[in-house]
Amino acid sequence: MNDRYVLKADRIVLPNRMLEGGWVVVQGGRFAAVGAGSPPLASPVVNAAGFTLAPGLVDIHVHGGAGADFMDGSSEAICTVARAHAGYGTTSLVLTTTTAPEQRIVETLEIARSFVHRDRNAVSPATNRGRILGVHLYGPFFGPEAVGCHSPEHLFSPEGGAERLLKRFADVLIGVTVAPEVTGWEQVARAAIRLGLRVHVGHSDATFEQFAAAVRAGASHVDHLFCAMSDKTKLRRKAAYPMRGGVLEGTLLFEHVTTEVIADGKHLRPELLHLAYRIKGPDRLALVTDCNRALDMPDGEYIFGPRDYGTRFVRRDGVGIMPDGNGLASSCVALAHCLHHFFGHVPCPMEHVIRMCTLTPARIAGVDHLVGSIEPGKFADFVLLDEELRVVAVALGGRQIAGEPVSGLPQAER
Ligand SMILES: [Zn+2]
Repeated sequence: MNDRYVLKADRIVLPNRMLEGGWVVVQGGRFAAVGAGSPPLASPVVNAAGFTLAPGLVDIHVHGGAGADFMDGSSEAICTVARAHAGYGTTSLVLTTTTAPEQRIVETLEIARSFVHRDRNAVSPATNRGRILGVHLYGPFFGPEAVGCHSPEHLFSPEGGAERLLKRFADVLIGVTVAPEVTGWEQVARAAIRLGLRVHVGHSDATFEQFAAAVRAGASHVDHLFCAMSDKTKLRRKAAYPMRGGVLEGTLLFEHVTTEVIADGKHLRPELLHLAYRIKGPDRLALVTDCNRALDMPDGEYIFGPRDYGTRFVRRDGVGIMPDGNGLASSCVALAHCLHHFFGHVPCPMEHVIRMCTLTPARIAGVDHLVGSIEPGKFADFVLLDEELRVVAVALGGRQIAGEPVSGLPQAER
């Protein structure tokens, strides 16, 4: 194996700037040095002329792909999803749970544990799949009126076993989503904060006051802004006046709260992506896919969530649609699609849109010490991008796993 090499590119995306005509040294599967001018001697030089070198993409809200869902209950399913996304440039994923019977959630967390421990430490995960850097306990504490495409019979009350579940899996969990209108949410939030986990608000019809209480209790992130959440129009159906804000307005108002948008081009029109970016900026907004199992699959009917306990949806027009046609049921694209879409439709500098797919989501998930930027010590997970920010090559731990082979770049077995 070629253990050390120098990679040159037209542009290198660094955490806070673009480096024109720079180089990076990759050694032992990690970035070892970054610079401009003449590269260090005595190493093979790989010349990626014509391309932008960026960190591998980090998707913190993703459920499935290539026919599998993370909740199917097997390690094969996890591998299938992580391999499908890696082919597009997503080198790190946060395994995102859906609603499911408690037994299935526990099984999934057990299976995920071995992936997470390995992938946080090994330079190259096996079989060219993306790293599973943690689990987000997303289902099952949603608000009953904002459950979206998740199966409503598998919601659980946050009272009861939630605290035990968080404690038992604190080593693999990154965070947990609560709906602050549901009795018992504080117990979950308090337990999570004590364990050092992040608290998200999502799938919630909370009033502004309830949302503000969650933020005071330590909630720091809101799942898929604009989708499955209360806003002034929804809340007006319960009380005519004065008009009041909900989760949507609260998220935009509280400056330090981070959020994410499903930037597949189907969930949100460009003006909503632009609004989120304008208010939150590139350090507090992440792009996510919320991708279901229908990535790389033909149009037709599929199950969202666990194959044996999930809900039906239809893949049509490049997106998941509820069977009644009256709502969306998550996306069918990888994060590279969102990167390209956002860049093409929202006025935003290249380095910002890349940051919203790499360092910002890595920070939100608390894995930015491992991935998310090109800095010495981090895993050499990277992508090469063309001028329109299309991913043309993907490398994991310094070896190319997808795209046309780049001359001189060490190749993984495919
Ligand atoms: Zn959702």
